[in-house]
Amino acid sequence: MKVVVTGAAGFIGSHLTERLLEEGHQVVGIDAFLDYYPRKVKEGNLRQAREHASFRLIEGQLQDLDLQELLEGAGQVYHLAAQAGVRSSWGEDFRLYTDNNVLATQRLLEAAVAAGTPRLVMASSSSVYGDSPELPLRETTPCQPISPYGVTKLAAENLAHLYGRLHGVPVVSLRYFTVYGPRQRPDMAFHRFLRAARDDQAITLFGDGEQTRDFTFIADVVEATRAAADSGRPGCVYNVGGGERISLNRVMALIGEVTGRRLRVNRGTSQKGDMRDTFADTSAAAADLGFRASMSLRDGIGREWSWIEGIP
Ligand code: NAD
Repeated sequence: MKVVVTGAAGFIGSHLTERLLEEGHQVVGIDAFLDYYPRKVKEGNLRQAREHASFRLIEGQLQDLDLQELLEGAGQVYHLAAQAGVRSSWGEDFRLYTDNNVLATQRLLEAAVAAGTPRLVMASSSSVYGDSPELPLRETTPCQPISPYGVTKLAAENLAHLYGRLHGVPVVSLRYFTVYGPRQRPDMAFHRFLRAARDDQAITLFGDGEQTRDFTFIADVVEATRAAADSGRPGCVYNVGGGERISLNRVMALIGEVTGRRLRVNRGTSQKGDMRDTFADTSAAAADLGFRASMSLRDGIGREWSWIEGIP
């Protein structure tokens, strides 16, 4: 089957692309190589995919490409391209978020209508929830994002479901909860912490460290994303979480145990837009997608550590 993956050079997109190629699909990957982090890193992410004869990379922004032509004949479209990052979504850079998260999604949805796309999976985020008093977060929990990034992800999700209802695009959205593992983006906490442990550098921890997260290993995210395309119910939203709620202080202790290194920590004030706690109720994904996170946090950190040890 022909499939299209947007954001194919990114952290999650490159893993998903490899999985689809292993399954024997023809993958058209689209990526603009945004400079949020270095192109060299994204080229590294794509190395294995590029060796595959069934992989074609289209470089460009979704807003500028002839997407209808690219989507024509595709059995599944996975939309992972986005300007990621909560903290940099304030101020001048907000334009990057509206362009790459909202406008780009609208262009893709128009193309999906025109091309008659039979299945579209959207990468959404736990950031759409904001600081809800109710935990675990359910798909029915009211969404009140507390960062501009979260607002654009919610807008993209709403747009997708609007196109689903009014134009018949069969869309399934996945709210990923903090994804980690090999190739994790360099701005993300585990990557920064593990790199600092390796290089004996100090890290800055924002907030008191008692904020909690539901961390999801990359292979579990890929599994859920594939299942969403095959068996997700059109119009539905699913949480994808790792199943454990853990504080950052505990994470740092675990990193110390896994790496055998002592982390030097500077404490900084909590950052505007960071959620206090995230914890996913994944019962909908379990029921409809057969999803169950299988990686323990300790083993997952070990996998990311092995990767960090091998990169420059
Ligand atoms: P990433 O930055 O590694 O990958 C995104 C890729 O999309 C980048 O390579 C970028 O160049 C590309 N891109 C961005 N805008 C584009 C555009 N307009 N046209 C073409 N390409 C474009 O990010 P990631 O961590 O792999 O995240 C993938 C998706 O998952 C995003 O939608 C993100 O919002 C979502 N998500 C990620 C996490 C996480 O923990 N990593 C959590 C929740 C949601």
